[in-house]
Amino acid sequence: MKINNTKILKKNNQFLVLNEIIDNQPISRAELTGKLNVSHTTIFTIVKELMDQGLVVETGYSESSGGRRSKLLSFNGKHKYVIGVEIEEKEVLYAIYDLNFDLIMKDIFSVKGLELDGLIDKLDQKIRAAVTDLDLEYNKIIGMGVSIPGIYKEENDEVIDATNKIIEAKGIRKKFRRKFMIPVYLENDANLAAYYEWSYGQAQGFNNIIYIYLGEGIGGGIVINNSLYRGGHGNAGEIGHIKVKASGKKCACGGVGCLESIASITAIEDQFNERIEKGEDSLLVDIKKGPYSFTDIFTIAQRNDYLAINVLEEAYKYLVIGISSLVNIFDPDLIFLGGSFNKFNNELYIHLKEELGEISFKNIVNELEIRTSSHDNLYQRLAASLLAFDKWKRRI
Ligand SMILES: [Zn+2]
Repeated sequence: MKINNTKILKKNNQFLVLNEIIDNQPISRAELTGKLNVSHTTIFTIVKELMDQGLVVETGYSESSGGRRSKLLSFNGKHKYVIGVEIEEKEVLYAIYDLNFDLIMKDIFSVKGLELDGLIDKLDQKIRAAVTDLDLEYNKIIGMGVSIPGIYKEENDEVIDATNKIIEAKGIRKKFRRKFMIPVYLENDANLAAYYEWSYGQAQGFNNIIYIYLGEGIGGGIVINNSLYRGGHGNAGEIGHIKVKASGKKCACGGVGCLESIASITAIEDQFNERIEKGEDSLLVDIKKGPYSFTDIFTIAQRNDYLAINVLEEAYKYLVIGISSLVNIFDPDLIFLGGSFNKFNNELYIHLKEELGEISFKNIVNELEIRTSSHDNLYQRLAASLLAFDKWKRRI
């Protein structure tokens, strides 16, 4: 078959060479020729095109091994940009990075009183204002990644079951694209976090991963045989809805006894505050007025507050039970504890290390690695940006 569309072919070759440089930098033209199995002239031409676009720069020379030293090439991410957006229940966090992933700017705004169109308008205004203030060129932005606190059904371009109801809509990606005029990629927050750790973070090199996202809710991402497992309908990884109790509060999913309704940050706050209202005592009552936040509860537990410790221990207990089921079903190489409550994860890590072996198959647990995230809140925005960058690298 003869490919007539030389423009697409050329673009495709450029991206092949660029990816090779990004993955193996610094690299010489001769090494590129060998790796890609094409002529030296082709590599020479494509590298020149990439250098003309400012995407590739020469950065020194290779070590001499007797012969002539060759110039080394590296990716230059300085003058192109990517936007990362994290939509949460009450606010939108956004950031601009260059393609070396140095942070250019970050900010946050409240979604109070906004509908979806208003949210997109506000984000657009803020980003365009930042681009002007920082003297960036808008056409140097390669794309936008958006972290969604719900399920994104790509085939219908629809968000469902979101903790932020504003974004439950059809045609959502289309709306973003029309407004920003750049490629936009949406992904569920927990999947995105799993993707980030697996591709760039502390879960690299593991083929079978259970990623647990602990936050206001409990989500997860599952990597099986080195690919993200989405399930038959894109809903896989709803780890928060494993049933760990036969009774309890009714959950948003319709069931009772779900892990999320017992051990999420919201559930911990609810339980603590309900028990205070029923008259139980805590050191917190003397310090400040309720309702008490997770940070209050976690901090006072460090000071041996009985009620706070009791509520947290209950959460750890059921998380260990839920995770043990996952371990027995999936036999993962790695359990990764992510989300935005690192101190809580560190405590849970200790419980898992001590207790998991007692309720799961010992031979699995002995081989199992458990890790916790070391990121702050910027992480989801960064993960969304990296998704957009990866899509750009593989696009023609
Ligand atoms: Zn549920």
